[in-house]
Amino acid sequence: MKSTNTRKIEKIKKKHGVLAIFVFLLTSFVATMLLSYFVYSLVFYLLEAKLTSEYESISYMERIYEQSLADGYEGDVWQVLDQDGREYIIRDNSGKLLVGDEDNTCSEEGNILTLGSIQEKVELFVDKQYPYVTLNEKGEATVLLTDLLKYIRDHQEDPELFFLIDDAEVHEDVSNVLIFVSDSYLRLPVWMGMKVSNGEETFIGKGFIYIRMTDVSIIMITTMILVILFFIIFMLFLVNMIGNIKNQKRSMKLFFMDLATGGHNRLWYIYRGEAILKKKFSASYQYAVVSLLSVKYNTFCMCHSVSEGETIIRKVSDCISGHVNRREVYAHESPECFMLLLRIKDQEELNSRLNSLISDLENIDVTHSFTYHLGVSVLLPPRDANGRILRRRYIDLEQDYNNAVTARNTLNGKEDSGIAYFDLKLVEERKWHDQVEEHCREALTNQEFLVYYQPKYDPVSGIMKGTEALIRWQSPVLGFVSPGKFIPIFEHNGFITEIDHYMLEHVAMDQKKWLDQGIECVPISVNISRAHFIESDLAEQIRDTVDKTGAPRNLIEIELTESAFFDDKNTLIKTISKLKEYGFAVSMDDFGSGYSSLNSLKDMPLDILKLDAEFFRGEDQGERGKIVVSETIKLARSLNMRTVAEGVEIKEQVDFLAEQGCDMIQGFYYAKPMPSEEYVVKLTEKKAEI
Ligand code: C2E
Ligand code: MG
Ligand code: MG
Repeated sequence: MKSTNTRKIEKIKKKHGVLAIFVFLLTSFVATMLLSYFVYSLVFYLLEAKLTSEYESISYMERIYEQSLADGYEGDVWQVLDQDGREYIIRDNSGKLLVGDEDNTCSEEGNILTLGSIQEKVELFVDKQYPYVTLNEKGEATVLLTDLLKYIRDHQEDPELFFLIDDAEVHEDVSNVLIFVSDSYLRLPVWMGMKVSNGEETFIGKGFIYIRMTDVSIIMITTMILVILFFIIFMLFLVNMIGNIKNQKRSMKLFFMDLATGGHNRLWYIYRGEAILKKKFSASYQYAVVSLLSVKYNTFCMCHSVSEGETIIRKVSDCISGHVNRREVYAHESPECFMLLLRIKDQEELNSRLNSLISDLENIDVTHSFTYHLGVSVLLPPRDANGRILRRRYIDLEQDYNNAVTARNTLNGKEDSGIAYFDLKLVEERKWHDQVEEHCREALTNQEFLVYYQPKYDPVSGIMKGTEALIRWQSPVLGFVSPGKFIPIFEHNGFITEIDHYMLEHVAMDQKKWLDQGIECVPISVNISRAHFIESDLAEQIRDTVDKTGAPRNLIEIELTESAFFDDKNTLIKTISKLKEYGFAVSMDDFGSGYSSLNSLKDMPLDILKLDAEFFRGEDQGERGKIVVSETIKLARSLNMRTVAEGVEIKEQVDFLAEQGCDMIQGFYYAKPMPSEEYVVKLTEKKAEI
């Protein structure tokens, strides 16, 4: 099965060529038929007219003979018949010659010929000496034009057949044919027989068909002219058809051409690639569908120019062509993207080929460094239940290429060159991604997002000092979903800003509610995504949201992830300063994860540093880990910041952190994130139960 696009292309490819060939064949056929019909009709008309006249003469002789029989053989009948000058014979029904001379050249067998002009059946005998009349398989007498012409050619020198007649001779020899001019004649003998009325004898007379050579020449010249005309028309059609096919080829070339590189485009890739995969021999090979992206191409064009960019792309195209053999395909898909179809033995060969391609591509320009992302979808040979390799039946290169692109997209955001392979996990991820995006808005309206609370405790006293609000999604469609599975999607599609407001509002409302119930509350930190920090009035938005609920600002803390510190630094500093000014505490979440933002610590007026859970992964952190944690706590204290250790699960870590003066611990050692009802109980107890 071919993809829809391939079928469309094939249709376009075939359309003109097929039509031109069809019209050409049809016209040639009709012209040949007309020409043959015309020539045959002409020749047969002439021959039949002459045969008829001969028939009438011989039939006249036969009637004389019949009359003589009726009169009882009056002796002078032979004299009368001889006067006519024709040879004749009389046979009985057994074939025995009753009357005739020794030079008789009439063949034994006669055949029926119908003379259309007089609607009579005549028995025709071939002349043994000049057998120009042929008998076909059915025993019918036929004179084929080609036979006749051949016969005439072969007997050109025969004076019996060709001779010059003048008027006088004609009147003596052929009394019923009037000839007014002297001409060279062709004289074809023909024997015609008719049954004598007694039913026992056949009278056979020898006639001659006289054909004037001028007539033959006229027929031949006319035929030649027609053949030449036909040939000219044929040639014109042929030239036109070849021209059409050439034009079509030229337009197909343009159709498949990529203007930027002069190579092939996407349509070619799909068309040619599917044709390769469809071939029988291809079934036993593995193929790799590759999507290659020049990562910095757009930036390069922006900093330089599109035409310089195109020069680079042409170099990339040339470089790729050196890595692709004639059984493989590559094409330029979009300004920064190429598509490849490689034939490989195994994964190892594929890796080494792609790595060598990347390394050559990275060196195409000495003044600029380019990197490349490659997405690969491997097409394994299809097999039956017994493991035998089968021919590929379902080919959809578009789909396979799309899979390669999906794999390549997983490298988005990475600066270095890399290769990503497609597998079904990616499809699942994509499906999940789409489902989350589809349901998130209605989930917000339906209040499917829940606020969970995870307390933070003082490691020395074991008293609750703070809490972090963490989102959960109780979805009727997707089930209970933890934030790690949907927050990155929301950060990507921008929905995170709504989520953060939702959480902030709910936390503030809860705080207000508990305060009103007389419960002594601790500050609750709310995560605010870095995507939010491009909004210059973020601090005001937070203030207004909290104020609307009536909750005191000092019971709300804002957590920023470390990656937020890479964005617009000035806006970030301004927002933090304003938040502090409005009375909110601000903390840096996940400190120590990813890139170090030690430098940002000096400019940011932060209140709390949350040590990333990675510091406390595994039972034994090792001496060096302990030194880093201990020094970070000291550093924070020197900068007037409190510290919270996240992800703490074991007592040894708690003891160590208490020793180092860490202010709070948030981890499963004390409590897991919990729904608000459970949290209120913990809040009233204050002291951790361990
Ligand atoms: P985070 O802000 O660093 O939150 C701490 C995460 O560590 C939470 O995961 C928490 O359940 C987990 N955790 C705490 N103690 C332990 C421990 O002892 N062991 C282990 N294994 N894990 C521990 P959670 O709730 O799955 O949240 C993951 C991340 O999702 C959060 O990391 C935060 O970045 C994001 N997130 C959660 N809720 C929100 C939200 O409302 N808004 C935004 N923007 N992000 C949120
Ligand atoms: Mg957090
Ligand atoms: Mg954290």
